[in-house]
Amino acid sequence: MRIGELCGLHLVDLHLRENAACGECRAPHLHVCHRPGNPNRAEAKSKRPWRVEHGIVTGGLIKRVSPAMVHTYFEYVTTEHPRGAGHGMLLVQLHGAATGQPWAPVGARRMLGQAGRRARLGLVKPPCLPALVHVRGFDAADGNLLIARDAGGWTSAAMVDEVYGHVDVHDPVFHAALRTVWGETK
Ligand SMILES: [Zn+2]
Repeated sequence: MRIGELCGLHLVDLHLRENAACGECRAPHLHVCHRPGNPNRAEAKSKRPWRVEHGIVTGGLIKRVSPAMVHTYFEYVTTEHPRGAGHGMLLVQLHGAATGQPWAPVGARRMLGQAGRRARLGLVKPPCLPALVHVRGFDAADGNLLIARDAGGWTSAAMVDEVYGHVDVHDPVFHAALRTVWGETK
């Protein structure tokens, strides 16, 4: 995910169960929703229409989530996420004066930079990450643009969306691409 997408997530955007109430994707997923008014100024690039009805988010850019991401989410929400935070956002500041406030993209970028230096990867900038994931997903997708897009959120292939719709989610190549994007296969 892009940093703006990640920091812009609200708890209601996460549909981490099979057959979530939105009815738009049977597997665990999340909805990337463009919200210009986020208190941490995180803003998703994708402006696909979305809405909330009876507390259920539909639309936006739907991205599937891996079992590891679901696991990390539950660990984070049960241990570190502040209960009853009025802003309803997923990622919050865990230290300092702004503890409990939504985590700003600038903080996420700084942390990523520090992690990159510690791992001796040189200068790591957020756009590298989606690119890396997309390339890996694209390889695993066997050159299938649709699979690459749905597995890795490869938005440059968005134009194929209107022409071909979505991949067959039972396609084994799609599952292989997902596992690669999620780092479950090498
Ligand atoms: Zn959903």
